[in-house]
Order: sequence, then structure tokens, then C-alpha cells
Amino acid sequence: MSQPESSKSTFAPALGDMNKEEFRRFGHELIDWIADYFDRIDQLPVLAAIEPGDLKAELPTSPPEQGESMEMIIADVDRLIVPALTHWSHPSFFAYFATSTSAPGIFGELLSAAFDNKAMLWRTSPASTELEEVTLDWLRQMMGLDPGMTGIIYDTASVSSMHAIAAAREGVEQRIREDGMSGRTDLPLLRVYVSEHAHSSIEKGIITLGLGQKGMRKIPTDSAFRMDARALAAAIDEDKRSGFIPFCIVATVGTTSTSSIDPIREIIPIGEEHAMWLHVDAAYAGSAAVVPELRHILDGCERADSLVVNPHKWLFTPFDCSVLYTRHMDLLGRAFSLVPEYLRTPEQEKVRSGSDYGIQLGRRFRALKLWMVMRYFGHEGLAARIREHCRLAKLFASWVEESPDWELLAPTPFALVCFRACPKREGESDELRGKRLDVLNEAIMHGVNGTGKALFSHTKLNDKLTLRLSIGNIRTTEAHVRQVWDLMNQQLQLLK
Ligand code: PLP
Repeated sequence: MSQPESSKSTFAPALGDMNKEEFRRFGHELIDWIADYFDRIDQLPVLAAIEPGDLKAELPTSPPEQGESMEMIIADVDRLIVPALTHWSHPSFFAYFATSTSAPGIFGELLSAAFDNKAMLWRTSPASTELEEVTLDWLRQMMGLDPGMTGIIYDTASVSSMHAIAAAREGVEQRIREDGMSGRTDLPLLRVYVSEHAHSSIEKGIITLGLGQKGMRKIPTDSAFRMDARALAAAIDEDKRSGFIPFCIVATVGTTSTSSIDPIREIIPIGEEHAMWLHVDAAYAGSAAVVPELRHILDGCERADSLVVNPHKWLFTPFDCSVLYTRHMDLLGRAFSLVPEYLRTPEQEKVRSGSDYGIQLGRRFRALKLWMVMRYFGHEGLAARIREHCRLAKLFASWVEESPDWELLAPTPFALVCFRACPKREGESDELRGKRLDVLNEAIMHGVNGTGKALFSHTKLNDKLTLRLSIGNIRTTEAHVRQVWDLMNQQLQLLK
């Protein structure tokens, strides 16, 4: 990374920031670069084709003493960074939950970086504070959520859910904020109930809050991977008899492995009977409620205490942007508000300040990108894109169903298909068949992913290695879905 003579003019000045002309020039160049990146992304391998340590080996181990030219930095993005990227923006990215950014979202991020607001108090960022309130109320309306729900933005669903559980714990009135939990003999075990398919972030939140892994009880699921409400009621009764305090249920709309939907309407009365907080993890599938004919997936949530939805998952908003809705902002505030003298402001009683509702002081201006995405696509535009993803997933599922060599392993309520290859072999025992299919499906997945033309991931359902195809990228078309299906079938023919 030595500095060529010719690029001297683009080095940082002795003091101050890059000059205006160079900012303009490189700014335009980078936007062109991004436009070209999206144009050629189909030709790039979805999964980074590098070995662990390859990038580190290319990078200097100590920082540059003198500044380097922008040309060299941008050239190194091309030379070093792009080959080390797994391209989440690739239209054949079908792994985990496929997500995507969008042009208005990128512009929102760009502006937010320029404004660099720390939206901790209303006064440090009135625009961020008020735009967040308005945008989240728009999203609430789009999703058909109850008007009693107020939203707040965090970075991720993991953090949103942790805050929801903290607010629920505050509602237990056990002086935990004041006295803590350790060293207390007067505090029974507090418990949160989740299905065995709940996301691991809930358990992490519970650990972080000092409730301990014993503070979480996993409830079994039915044949469609939905929380068994009767088992939930029985577990709560049993724990109460043991002297525990059951205080929170976390139900999921759109579980990570299969996108199953817990039976919210059956869970609601159980929580209400025991005055427990119901948090709904709709991080992935909540966005689907903007599609009018899918709004029913949140049936019952009008009585939930909180709900998380991630616009960075399926609302074309660049990572990160997670929204927590709750009808108990007061409890969230009681759990987290702490205003030292240096943050006191004359208007504090009249306005909302984001830092009163979470662990962070400074907060990014994330509402801007979401507002720009919502305005640019509109409710109908967002719904049309999500509807199309669901159509493509159902189409893929129909190909699986029609083929004797493949089978579906879970329902497809949204845009995630769970399936596996299952070619028959005469006279094989169930046990041998199970083992053979696990090995075969894993090999198919690595075979297709190794081509660089598509990327998908797996889970385990009923002890079977299960392939997951998630459709959520704004650029994914039927041709991309057809291509990955063809690639899977080619691998199957090679391997079976
Ligand atoms: N909840 C569910 C249902 C998820 O599927 C995920 C991630 O895929 C999460 C929570 C965690 O999301 P985040 O990365 O925003 O913390």
C-alpha cells in the first residue's frame, strides 16, 4: 500500500476534513460504484470464496502512519474487501432469512452518517426523535397493530426482546432495579416461557438480564412446530406450585427454523390469567402483516404487551433497524431511565428522549432510512414485494411436492421453504435411510453453495437435516428460484 505520486492530490489535508470538491468527486464515484455493484452482483459468488485468515493475511498489521489516498482505499475495497464478502444483496442469497437493502434505504443511511446525530435526548436530535415516533406509527398502521402500541427503534431483535423482558421484569414489582437479584433470599425464581423453536436471542437476553438459564422454560411444539398452549398452561401451573414467579411468555410469529406461528389467541388467555407479559417475536414475519391478506398472522397481538419486528429483515431497510412496539412505555422507562445532571433539559417533561427507554445513551438516526423506504415504496409497493416473495416460495414448494425425489418438511406460511431430498433405496432400514439422507442433503447444500451461484442454509427438524430456502431479497426473481432448484437437482443426480 505505498502511495503513488499521481494520487497525492487526494490525500487528507494537514487539518480538517476532505475538501468539498474531492468529497463531491469520490461521493459520485462511490454511488456509481454501488450502482455497478448491484448491476454485476449476479456474477459474483454469493458465498465468499476465501479461507479463514485470507483477508487478514493481506492487511497490514499496524495502522498507516500517514493518511493514504482515497483512490488507493477504494481500489483496496475492490481488491480485498469485495472478494471477502458474502453477498447478502445477491438475488440468489436464500440462506438464514434472506433480507435486502434498497436504494432509498441506502440514501437514508448516507444522510444519517452525514448528520451523525446522537439521538439520546429530544434536544440532541429533534428530527430523529419525532420522525421515529411518526414513522413507527405509520408502520403500526401498515401492520394493523393496535393504536395502544408505541414503537421504539433498537439495533436488532435480540436487543429489542431483551428490553421487552426487562420491562416485563420491572412490572413484577420486586424492586429488582433498586436491589438487584443477587444475594437475595426474598426473591423466588422468575421465569420466562418460550417454545422450543424460539430464537436463541431470547435465551441470551434472559442470561444478560441475570435471570439465568434456569429462568427460562422451553415448551414443546406440535407437529407444525407451534407452541403447545396446553403444555404452556401446565408448565406455568406447575412452576407456580413450586413457588416460582412466571412473569413473561415469548411467543413467535415466524420462527427461525420453519417460520411457524405460535397460537397467539390460545396463549393470550393463559398469560392474562396469570397477569404475565406477552412478548411476540415477529422479527422476521411481522413485516408480512403489511400485506392485507396476511394481516391475520398477527391476530391476537392486539392483546400482547410487546412485539418486535425487524424492518432490516423483510422491509428492504439496510441493517440495522429493529422496532419494539409496546403498550407499556412507562415500564420500559422505569426499567431504564436515569438522567444525570449533565443530561437534564428544560423540555424533558414534555418530550420523549430515546435514552430513557434503553441501555444505550447515544442512538443512531435509524428512522430516516425507514421513513425513506416507506415513502418511496408506499404501503402497496412494500406489500407487493412481500407478496411476490411468498408467491415464489409457494412455487418452489410446489416443485418440491411434485417431485418424487424431494419432500417438504414443514408448512410454508411465508417465504421460507423447509424440505429435503429423499430418493428411495429398496430394502433400507429407517435408521440407515435417515443417516443416508442427512449426509446426502448436507452434501447437496455444500455442493450448490460451493458453486457460488446460490446460497442456502439448513436446520434440524424432528432429527432430520432440513434444507431451508428463504426468499426475501428485493432483486430475487422467478429465474433465480428456478436456477437454485436446477442446481439442487444437478447435485442430487451427482450424489444419489
Ligand atoms: N427472532 C427471530 C425469529 C429471528 O429469526 C432472528 C434472526 O433471524 C432474531 C430474532 C434475531 O434477530 P437480530 O439479528 O435482529 O437480533
